[in-house]
Amino acid sequence: ATPTALLVGTGRGAQLGILIKGPEVLESTRRVDTVVLDKTGTVTEGRMTLVETHVADGEDEAEVLRLAGALEHASEHPIAQAVARAAADTTGPLPAVEGFTNVEGLGVQGVVDGHAVLVGRPKLLAEWSQHLPVELERHLEAAQAAGRTAVAVGWDGKARAVLVVADVVKPTSAEAIRQLRALGLTPVLLTGDNEAVARSVAAEVGIDEVIAEVLPADKVDVVKKLQAEGRTVAMVGDGVNDAAALAQADLGLAMGTGTDVAIEASDLTLVRGDLRVAADAIRLSRRTLATIK
Ligand code: ADP
Ligand code: MG
Repeated sequence: ATPTALLVGTGRGAQLGILIKGPEVLESTRRVDTVVLDKTGTVTEGRMTLVETHVADGEDEAEVLRLAGALEHASEHPIAQAVARAAADTTGPLPAVEGFTNVEGLGVQGVVDGHAVLVGRPKLLAEWSQHLPVELERHLEAAQAAGRTAVAVGWDGKARAVLVVADVVKPTSAEAIRQLRALGLTPVLLTGDNEAVARSVAAEVGIDEVIAEVLPADKVDVVKKLQAEGRTVAMVGDGVNDAAALAQADLGLAMGTGTDVAIEASDLTLVRGDLRVAADAIRLSRRTLATIK
């Protein structure tokens, strides 16, 4: 083997946004036939985004977002950050809030532009006699059935909207899965999340094999079990929870946007957190090895 070719491979890797622990990593890459992908933060963004806004008859969507967004801007909750971000993006600078109160486990309340605004569970609004009209109730239930989180918005004595937030799939994930398949690899989605959410994410990006409701400590056993079936496994993850599985895998790939623990436990780091680079890494390794032989 020529060390020079290996070094060229690793240098090119750095250009593509791949950090490689050592040249020996390239060898394991060649045999990989299965790619296990952690869901949250790897296939998905790993943070909540506002995905649906449903307003009651006669309500103005922009006004709902402006008032709800202003109130949520004062809260640290992941739901609140999704709503505030969406509001700032669509309606511009948000008005100030007076008398902000966090009602533990229920939602938030405060005064925005002279309106007493509530955002949270329907139960919070009901405490102020604000009841959701049937059509909004239906949207709320449909979202929850799909494994998403829905909250209600009301002000001045009236329930006005339902907002749905979800962790969304990264725009590059479906293309990455296509490329991995083209390289002859079988993708497997691994998650602690429930089966319904996992199946819908898998369908969106084109993965057939789903292993859901796996406790953090059991992820490593999933990798071991696949290896016991004779598969050579690459694992892509980003979290503290993924470290043991990344180390157990024949090839561990960490998202550079993830935790230090995950990066430490892996063979390769995808600097930009773009899953397409996992396919680049495998292609590059194969090409580099072909040059050597
Ligand atoms: P979790 O974060 O696990 O959902 P919390 O106790 O933080 O538990 O919140 C419970 C529920 O209360 C949330 O699912 C949401 O419906 C509502 N809630 C809490 N804080 C907010 C907020 N800032 N904005 C909207 N809804 C909220
Ligand atoms: Mg919480």
